[in-house]
Amino acid sequence: MSGGSQRDLRFGAYDLGMHLLIVEDDDRLRRLLKRLLEEQRHVVEVAATGADGYDIASTPGGGIDVLILDIGLPDMSGLDVARRLRREGIEVPILMLTARDTVGDRVTGLDAGADDYLVKPFAFAELHARLRALGRRTQSGPRRPEPRLKVGPIVLDETRRLVTIDDKPVELSPREFALLECFLRHPDQALTRDQLLDHAWPFGVAVTPNAVDAYVHYLRDKLGDAGQMIRTVRGVGYRLSDG
Ligand code: CA
Repeated sequence: MSGGSQRDLRFGAYDLGMHLLIVEDDDRLRRLLKRLLEEQRHVVEVAATGADGYDIASTPGGGIDVLILDIGLPDMSGLDVARRLRREGIEVPILMLTARDTVGDRVTGLDAGADDYLVKPFAFAELHARLRALGRRTQSGPRRPEPRLKVGPIVLDETRRLVTIDDKPVELSPREFALLECFLRHPDQALTRDQLLDHAWPFGVAVTPNAVDAYVHYLRDKLGDAGQMIRTVRGVGYRLSDG
């Protein structure tokens, strides 16, 4: 028997419980991110405009651990929000979201004071990994978890984006990596196809739950013998168990 509810993704072993602020004018994306991040036990505040986001992020003692900041906002650019915060000496880590991926955008974002940069569409697992990395950077202390996930012979190093089995590196696509991360974060839990889609696939990209079956198949192949640790749970989805 696994501990906790099988349908509940909240009870991960690597819980950070950060205080996050999402500044994003896309209502659907903002609500979805808030829900998924709250499921991971973060405290999440939201703003739909640059001005509101700036006000919350600059509130003295507000204690935001990481700011998720969209560049394309209705009233001002996310770049302007970042510049204003930095000019005021506010050093909250900023993860910038953008619809475009050009070297120019990346440099401009980093110049404006962003600490990291994520291009839409992205998967939740990718966003969450970046957030944890940024949170760790500023909140070093005894509660900070290892950025490594390990179940049996499989080790996933979030920071280096590296997977090894018995210390031998395994090449995975970004989707396979996100999928494996989801399994490793919730060992011995049956995960539904919808849960895996929510966490490992980019938001807003039309995919059917069958895509999960295909990618689990690829992932099992690439993991070799360790692939047998990913079991099919009839009528539900999949579960990763060691032994
Ligand atoms: Ca936007």
